[in-house]
Amino acid sequence: MTAPELTTTLHEEVRSLAAERDAVILAHNYQVPEVQDVAHFVGDSLGLSREAAATDAEAIVFCGVHFMAETAKILSPEKTVLLPDLDAGCSLAASITADQLRQWKAENPGAVVVSYVNTTAEVKAETDYCCTSGNAKAVIEAIPRDQEILFLPDMYLGIWLEKVTGRKLNIWMGECHVHAGIRPADIERWQDEAPDAELLVHPECGCASQAMAFGNERTHILSTEGMINFAKASPKPRMLVATEIGIIHRLEKEAPGKRFEPVNRQAVCQYMKMITLEKVRDSLRDWMYEIEVDPEIAARAKLAIDRMVQLG
Ligand code: SF4
Repeated sequence: MTAPELTTTLHEEVRSLAAERDAVILAHNYQVPEVQDVAHFVGDSLGLSREAAATDAEAIVFCGVHFMAETAKILSPEKTVLLPDLDAGCSLAASITADQLRQWKAENPGAVVVSYVNTTAEVKAETDYCCTSGNAKAVIEAIPRDQEILFLPDMYLGIWLEKVTGRKLNIWMGECHVHAGIRPADIERWQDEAPDAELLVHPECGCASQAMAFGNERTHILSTEGMINFAKASPKPRMLVATEIGIIHRLEKEAPGKRFEPVNRQAVCQYMKMITLEKVRDSLRDWMYEIEVDPEIAARAKLAIDRMVQLG
């Protein structure tokens, strides 16, 4: 069997198992193309959280990383949530523990805690508001201006939020190794090499501040879902993309005929790429790996996640 034939066979097997077991398959924008193609919904953290909360299916197969599957379980505790590979973690979520957050809160009594969704359930349980890059600005703006805010865990997103909201934030110095690896030099090079292209930059990037500093009309700081919407609506034929390269597949599908290029081809998240079509098939067939969250932690985390979903 050729590789494309094998992919087609696996795709059919996965879809038929999903129908048989009443499961919905959710995939993040950074998943490998064949996993995106087999999913019922592809999106960013916020979009997938909404799908997880709204689905009527008995089970959710989450093709993403561990904290995302935990979020789905918190939103749908009565459903089975499966993660096809338990080792699919996140360097950003790992950059702060619940103990570290409790300590930070104790040092800053009265401060409101805003956590990017890339955090563990335990950290969310210590959080007032969760946010994604898609609604982080709206979340900060919903908090009274005189209120001190602890923002975690991504420092680049925090710095970007300070600029777009004009607010001073107390920022945790965490980072995603993939986005931090996209450097200002990558942007500079492309500004020269592709002067006709629009530049789409994720605010988690190590280059985001630099991209904003260029401040020209063809630089756009966007969440992954914002990139999709921009690419569909823009009449421009060529776009450079500064985020994890998995998004290119979705962009090409949603805005056919346009040319999309990553500014850094090394921007690959090895955790996201752990989910393969075979593992999705095994997950549905063998009902693994079930994600559980302690009910007391889940109840506290849910308050912060609900605010995130509502403030989209
Ligand atoms: S790309 Fe970065 S933030 Fe996203 S899952 Fe991978 S390590 Fe985490």
